[in-house]
Amino acid sequence: MKRLRFTIALVLFSVCLVANALASPPSLVTAGKLDQPRVRWSDRTIKIAISTSMLKRSPNIKVGSDVIGAVERSLDAWRAVADIEFQLDRSDKQSVSPTGEADGTSVITVAGTPENVLFFGSDTQAVSAQTRVFHLRGVITEADIALNPFQQFSTDGTFGTFDLQSTLTHEIGHLLGVKHSGVLGSVMYEKLAKVGALGLADLGTRTLAESDISAVRDLYGANTEKDECCGVVLGKLTLPVGKSLKNLRVWAEDGDSGRVLGQAEVAADGKFRLGGLPLGTQKFYWKAKSGATGSFGGELGDVKVEKAEAATLNQKISVGPSLLSLDFFGQNGQLGESGISVENGREQIIYVGGKGLDSRTVEIEFSSPFIRAVPATTVNQDFGDGVSVVSLYIVVAPQTPPGVYSVFARGQDGSRTAALGALKIN
Ligand SMILES: [Zn+2]
Repeated sequence: MKRLRFTIALVLFSVCLVANALASPPSLVTAGKLDQPRVRWSDRTIKIAISTSMLKRSPNIKVGSDVIGAVERSLDAWRAVADIEFQLDRSDKQSVSPTGEADGTSVITVAGTPENVLFFGSDTQAVSAQTRVFHLRGVITEADIALNPFQQFSTDGTFGTFDLQSTLTHEIGHLLGVKHSGVLGSVMYEKLAKVGALGLADLGTRTLAESDISAVRDLYGANTEKDECCGVVLGKLTLPVGKSLKNLRVWAEDGDSGRVLGQAEVAADGKFRLGGLPLGTQKFYWKAKSGATGSFGGELGDVKVEKAEAATLNQKISVGPSLLSLDFFGQNGQLGESGISVENGREQIIYVGGKGLDSRTVEIEFSSPFIRAVPATTVNQDFGDGVSVVSLYIVVAPQTPPGVYSVFARGQDGSRTAALGALKIN
């Protein structure tokens, strides 16, 4: 029975794909993927057109939805924090531009044209939306957003649909050049839940997490001078000879509260750049992405992030095998694949799923001083083979600042893993 519920919750999650297309023949670009400079628009004002397919009655968008409002609010989320403006127009354009055929009009469409259907390929069930970004020498020239014409969207929290505003906020991030984030509770996390996936109308992914804000500010800067922004941390992780640096991620947490402030992927040569960060002393962590070298991770220490110059964080790390991983989070007896919302000032039960999680041998911990597990409340839950799940009571202090917070698991053998920003406090 529980296994069935687990399966049901998981199919209510969908990934977003982002396709990067060069606006010129590939022969002009010689740099490898990870060496490419940051890709962004060069003009401060970005023109976007809503396709008429979004505005006419269609089976994909629930009748009565506030489509224009959802588009405007998704743009506002980014405009409010970065030095960019949007100019919103309408267009008869129905299809995303094919690879190599940019037409200069960035469109948001839900039309079921052959080109759009082709864009989704065989992923029509697993994908909510896709964005094709055209860029040349680091400058974005066009970005087309297609909502999956085989999915349903709404703006009123209808269970079983995708929230249009959450979906668009994520895709507008791609349009701006922001990549997927490892922060489970962020807008730019690649998995999006349908409304009601965990039995709750959680529309929290309409709101940018601080890691989303730092990512866009790294590209465009903040929109006001008075913001305490922005600092950059440049670093290099070094592994013992013979170990692979693939699939590592670093992240920064506020030194006082433990709020996740930003994250970055580590390049194959061990280098990383974490920009757009608020100023102050921050704690840095690293982890291997799931499915890589186990899920081991650890602390990198404190870094003072200042406006004037980039801080440096070079460190040797050791990767050991870890049998632990934290992959799923849940509430109401259901598990999902992205972050969950928890409430201030309350004791509440959460579900944590992954590998090697056994209440007798593993402690669930939090880096934030405001969040703690209630002792002796961790119990094993049966969600079938292939996943180990525990539930536990946590207490979130009333004064906990809004933001996303990480969850850690520590085994008796010393192995440790983390889920980056899995708890959201709105
Ligand atoms: Zn995406």
